[in-house]
Amino acid sequence: MLKKFFLSLFTILLALLSVTLVQTFMHVADESKPIEVKGVSIDEAKAIQNLSASIKFKTISHQEREKFPQQEFDNFIKWASLTYPEFHQVLMLEQFEHSLLFKWEGSDATLAPILFEGHYDVVPVIPGTEDLWEEMPFAGTIAKNRIWGRGALDDKSGVIGLMEAATYLIQNDFQPKRTIYFGFGHDEEIGGGGAALITEKLRKEGVQLHWSLGEGSFVNRGFFPGVKKLIAPINVAEKGIMNLMIVAKAKGGHSSTPPKRTAVTILAEALVKLEKEPLPGSLEGLSAAMFDEVSKHMPFGYRFLFANRWLFGDMIDSQISSTPVINAMIRTTTAPTMLNGSIKSNVLPIEASALINFRLHPRDSINSVTEHVRRVVGSDEVEVRYLGGMEASDISSWTSPGFKIVSASLDKIYGDIVSVPGLMIAASDTRHYSKIADNSFRFNPFSIVPEDMTGFHGTNESIDIDSFVSGVQTYIEIIREGSSS
Ligand SMILES: [Zn+2]
Repeated sequence: MLKKFFLSLFTILLALLSVTLVQTFMHVADESKPIEVKGVSIDEAKAIQNLSASIKFKTISHQEREKFPQQEFDNFIKWASLTYPEFHQVLMLEQFEHSLLFKWEGSDATLAPILFEGHYDVVPVIPGTEDLWEEMPFAGTIAKNRIWGRGALDDKSGVIGLMEAATYLIQNDFQPKRTIYFGFGHDEEIGGGGAALITEKLRKEGVQLHWSLGEGSFVNRGFFPGVKKLIAPINVAEKGIMNLMIVAKAKGGHSSTPPKRTAVTILAEALVKLEKEPLPGSLEGLSAAMFDEVSKHMPFGYRFLFANRWLFGDMIDSQISSTPVINAMIRTTTAPTMLNGSIKSNVLPIEASALINFRLHPRDSINSVTEHVRRVVGSDEVEVRYLGGMEASDISSWTSPGFKIVSASLDKIYGDIVSVPGLMIAASDTRHYSKIADNSFRFNPFSIVPEDMTGFHGTNESIDIDSFVSGVQTYIEIIREGSSS
């Protein structure tokens, strides 16, 4: 009897093992024929010089609007017109405050236009961190095969890269079939009012874009465990943002005779509850599509897990939730940031409050998140107030022409590269342009390694010279292909 039981158990386990192994061995990328890497040759020295020169303009976006350094923005615009004369002659320029919209008329007016966008404003250098920079943040130094300074990654390389690419095409007598717009924002870092004005103007003219490509993620080198190939997460959606205020109430009074529960402890309990019950999230839809593809290039152990998500789904979810960046890709995140209590050391507060900043995954809405928070912490003692926010974007199609053109262009320049749909964790100007586009993509064709990440809004922002050149070459392909079909 017992022997029979073990025998059938053994048979089941064996069957399970063969199924999971078969799944694993099938979970590999199609080995298509190697792609011939073939980018056009550009004047690299000039492109590098131009990015370096653009960094010297202190086009800083300050939170305090009155600090706007208008002269620097004026100077940048003037410099761009002198540095890219063909671009300014062939394209039509319209200015919205200090944001720029260029139009390159296509030969076939029946085709919906495409739009490329970036921003030339940069965030300030945090006072006191200047000494931590290996090179001065606004000198545009070229050293150690890198171009250094604010905007080298975010996002002057994007703006300069696009002007370099378009200039190359003009010099080589390229004429687009599909009309191309270039939108260069001057205030992306503080909300993107310029991009909003440009979008509004295009909308009024009845422009509906075939697709748009703007600032987003980069070509990743060494970000995924065990993956040797380059991964290009082309972002097809952008997270939303919202703030809630959690307000705990209690009787006030003198701090010498506190009751058992005060507004502060009630608030603390509520915050712990929220931490213990995050918004649900798992590998599904967009994130599943990304990991399914990337995991095909991972070592056996990971492939085994991802190929059998039907069996190991929960394990994978809890594993990836422990990494903040990946956690942010699969769920709406909850971050308490600002706290308020009593105004005096010996006074019990009648209200204690915490501001919670949420980044909304496209699966959630402002309403569903507010409801979740009310269900978890709402009570007679705890009130949940909505302070404002913005829904997550729609999800663009990763089987549509725009995505395919970007991914095919990357293949042509980088060769062994895997393009996958990604989710933008931060906000970008695309949230404006996407209102008038069938599909919107957020991606910069420059490659970065994990150590580059501290440069974004941090110290030692710099871009590898070869990476910048490859990015310009990729832009040339994307613009040419995108406006030809
Ligand atoms: Zn940016």
